[in-house]
Amino acid sequence: MDIPKLDEIYIANTYNRFPIVIVSGKGSILIDENNKQYIDFSSGIAVNTFGVCDESWILDVCNQIKTLTHTSNLYYTEPSVKLAKVLCEKTGFKKVFFSNSGAEANECAIKIARKYGYEHLGKDYFNIITLKGSFHGRTITTLAATGQDIFHNDFKPLTSGFLYVEPNNIIELESVLKNNKCCAIMIETIQGEGGVNVLENKYLEQLEKICKDYNVLLIVDEVQTGNGRTGKLYSYMHSNILPDIVTTAKGLGGGLPIGATMLNEKLQYILNYGMHGSTFGANPICCIGALNVINRIDENLLKEVEEKSNFIINELSSCKNILNITGKGLILGIEISKNVDEVINNCIENGLLVIKAKNKIRILPPINIPKNLLEEGISILKKILES
Ligand code: PLP
Repeated sequence: MDIPKLDEIYIANTYNRFPIVIVSGKGSILIDENNKQYIDFSSGIAVNTFGVCDESWILDVCNQIKTLTHTSNLYYTEPSVKLAKVLCEKTGFKKVFFSNSGAEANECAIKIARKYGYEHLGKDYFNIITLKGSFHGRTITTLAATGQDIFHNDFKPLTSGFLYVEPNNIIELESVLKNNKCCAIMIETIQGEGGVNVLENKYLEQLEKICKDYNVLLIVDEVQTGNGRTGKLYSYMHSNILPDIVTTAKGLGGGLPIGATMLNEKLQYILNYGMHGSTFGANPICCIGALNVINRIDENLLKEVEEKSNFIINELSSCKNILNITGKGLILGIEISKNVDEVINNCIENGLLVIKAKNKIRILPPINIPKNLLEEGISILKKILES
């Protein structure tokens, strides 16, 4: 079967795929239709927290599939409450709304911010400030939240009420907040799609204070940075801030689609019956997959993420043609003086899957990648960069 040809005929043209067909995998190794093996430094774009086909995850998910695959949100289910409880216990948030993706987790946060603005600040306080270079999803509203014109073209008019400011510039942010009727500020602590750009801790802390001063919500989008990826359970935990809302998805399900919007004490009762919903949200299989992931992210694993990150940075820092390395834990952006696309293609030919973020190579290996595979992958990347 010519998969690329059939894909071209039958699948909408939205993805410019690499010319390989992945058929199977185990942990941090993926295998293509020609039986070629690849070390995976992409994790399905930060989704496969424990790699693919992880034994413990499979066991829990398969047991759930045999027990209950789906029921509507008209009834209580055990997996959803277990997952919400563990998320709240590990973060201090009070309530969780479950959806199916990052965009939906952010949509929920945006709806809550609008309702908060209306109830606490006044009916025109609907604007939300986001950062230039951010990425918050592909629905019309989360596209509007995304601070990159390139994603807006072709789809206007987008949802109104989003204002964009430069990251790490607190003066500009305060001025926009002062001069517009706002209900929230929404950020990624590390802009993943925007080029693995890290927000400074000082800026985060000033941002939190400004949100309190103006009584607007602080929403942190942890869709890409959450669930252990940066060396903390959620990346805001590297700083002293306490967001009002944290959204997550991707790595939460470890390969199954689930989004979560976590609400603090102030917001725990803001949603009421019928105000929001999702047919597949809190699906028992996805919740059990996520429960397996979240329960396994402990201090030892987070320490390992940090050690692996230090190893990568140490190995690459003296490497020829590297200009800069950004990011935290196992979300790293490598700025190089060579052609990024050529390097990525060369890596793939040599059995290493890395991806791109703007002008950088982005690496996002499974957070439990074995040290030997990490070493092998980094040595492939080094050889290509130095050649
Ligand atoms: N937010 C961030 C920070 C993301 O990186 C992404 C996806 O890349 C999204 C939101 C959208 O997530 P999804 O594709 O699951 O809707």
